[in-house]
Amino acid sequence: MSFARRDGELCAEDVPVREIADSVGTPVYIYSAAALAERLRALGEAFAGVRHLVCFSVKCNGNLAVLRTLCRGGAGADITSVGELARAQRAGIPGDRIVYSGVGKRRDEIDAALAAGIKLFNVESREELRAIDAVARARGVRAPVAFRVNPDVDPKTHPYIATGLRTSKFGIPWAEAGEAYAEAKALANVSVVGVDCHIGSQLLDVAPFAEALARVRTLVGELRAAGHAIAVVDVGGGLGVDYSGETPPSVAAYADAVRTALADLGCEIVLEPGRAIAGPAGLFVTRVLYRKRGGDKRFVVVDGAMNDLIRPALYGAHQPVQPVAPARGEPAPVDVVGPVCESADFLAQDRPLPPLEPGDLLAFGTAGAYGFVMASNYNARPRAAEVLVRGDRFAVVREREVLEDLFRGETIPEEFTA
Ligand SMILES: *Cc1c(COP(=O)(O)O)cnc(C)c1O
Repeated sequence: MSFARRDGELCAEDVPVREIADSVGTPVYIYSAAALAERLRALGEAFAGVRHLVCFSVKCNGNLAVLRTLCRGGAGADITSVGELARAQRAGIPGDRIVYSGVGKRRDEIDAALAAGIKLFNVESREELRAIDAVARARGVRAPVAFRVNPDVDPKTHPYIATGLRTSKFGIPWAEAGEAYAEAKALANVSVVGVDCHIGSQLLDVAPFAEALARVRTLVGELRAAGHAIAVVDVGGGLGVDYSGETPPSVAAYADAVRTALADLGCEIVLEPGRAIAGPAGLFVTRVLYRKRGGDKRFVVVDGAMNDLIRPALYGAHQPVQPVAPARGEPAPVDVVGPVCESADFLAQDRPLPPLEPGDLLAFGTAGAYGFVMASNYNARPRAAEVLVRGDRFAVVREREVLEDLFRGETIPEEFTA
């Protein structure tokens, strides 16, 4: 296992987590190269026999070393901005393995993606389609496009990460797909190559996938009948992971649902997994500063905070937590809170943890996705370090920010401040 106990001590692959924390400091994100590679491999294996490309969702973890690890395993990238394009390219991911999603692609971003020769633009509105056509014309190229269609299915996930409802800002309405594709076909500088769909994140059941993909299948048939050469179906991401005993679908069950809906269409399948690959491959490690009480509540104040790991504050998300050292004593419920001046600054609430002392380390699991990427400098807190482990070695793959980083780009114009 990538994160398991040896003689009671939590390890990342073959390295004791304590060793990393002592050497690099806390808070720190720790990723397992073996876990990343293995999760990518397992997903690819589930899709064996289906022509497919795994485009890892860079927004969930854009660390260059993480991207390189996945690139070595054959993954491409699903990007949402020119910044993520730059990350994917810097990590060595070739343009023909990059797909571009997101509702608000600027013209400079579209231009950069065309320059990179990306595989596919997932287009989210007809105005955006026209912008892509115009930018491609200026470059003298044709942009490969798919529309992100909104199948209006309820993924039964947190409302902030449900994206496939009719009222969502994402995708084009189902009923307008025919017209949108007809418009695209008439444009000289886009070529319609596929259909795209992404209904939400942290999905714990295959049923919404199956329902959405059945609708996509029907649409592909209709579009082909209307003369569109649909060669690619991008099924998005969204496969859930276990944070607190959830039972997400296995990659095999997920692949079966995709196969059942799409296998005989003869399309290449693009997958955009994020969380399902990186989530369980990462830990967030923080050190206990103080203990205190408030009424009947017991608090453990740690050096990590909502600016480092915002999911609990943002979604009320549950991140599993355990002490790094062997447990001593009986567990009792505590809130694990950070130093940020917000009541929402908690990492765990009412969680049974064994007695802890200042200096002890806590490891939050399933923190490899939507962890560091959502970190901010709120409360002027330098962002945490990131570490990649491989076997019995580890490397700092992003240095902890220093105070000087907090001021980078700021100036004090003397004439305005005198
Ligand atoms: C966020 C996102 C993904 C990745 O979602 P996960 O739930 O992390 O798998 C994939 N595609 C699109 C369009 C997204 O917005």
